Amino acid sequence: MNKLVVISGPSGVGKGTIAKALIERNKDMALSISCTTRAPRIGEKNGREYFFIPKEEFKEKIANNGFLEYSEHFENYYGTPKDFVLEKLKEKTVILEIDVNGGLKVKENMPEAVLIMILPPSLEEVRNRLIKRNTESLEKIEKRMQRIEFELGKKEQYDYSVVNDKLQVAIEEVENIIKK
Ligand code: 5GP
Repeated sequence: MNKLVVISGPSGVGKGTIAKALIERNKDMALSISCTTRAPRIGEKNGREYFFIPKEEFKEKIANNGFLEYSEHFENYYGTPKDFVLEKLKEKTVILEIDVNGGLKVKENMPEAVLIMILPPSLEEVRNRLIKRNTESLEKIEKRMQRIEFELGKKEQYDYSVVNDKLQVAIEEVENIIKK
């Protein structure tokens, strides 16, 4: 049976890198694509990183029960399109890369989902990664840091947590959990 896997963790913790590595190494795994109302960052493509849609369209989709979960952060909406995930699950294990609240909502709707939280070796390390990524102002980074502390507080409600100290080790750990 194909599994629904949720990978969460603070921005900048490397969860995207881990998720991408997993689908490259395992042809029976696929990434879900979320909808968002935020603007694409440089290098991002509609239908690849996200489906970038206007707020009105997002709200319509909420009203039509079109999301497995959705949330609002940094004044934008993010959501997991239900049809897209259920369709993909017919063929492959589907990985959702979403925030902690979203992950817990998915678990409510689909208790068989496996929730994995990626942890940074330290909070300082996260701040440095965000600064290095250079896509946001320092003020925004501070806001994200507050959110990160909140997310890490929900660790106990996840099925597994994996520290991303050495990337290769973290990838293998997550892979082993999924294949268990
Ligand atoms: P970013 O703007 O950096 O791409 O994402 C901001 C936050 O939104 C991240 O914590 C990311 O995991 C979360 N996110 C992305 N897609 C979804 C989604 O479909 N649902 C929820 N709840 N959060 C999401």
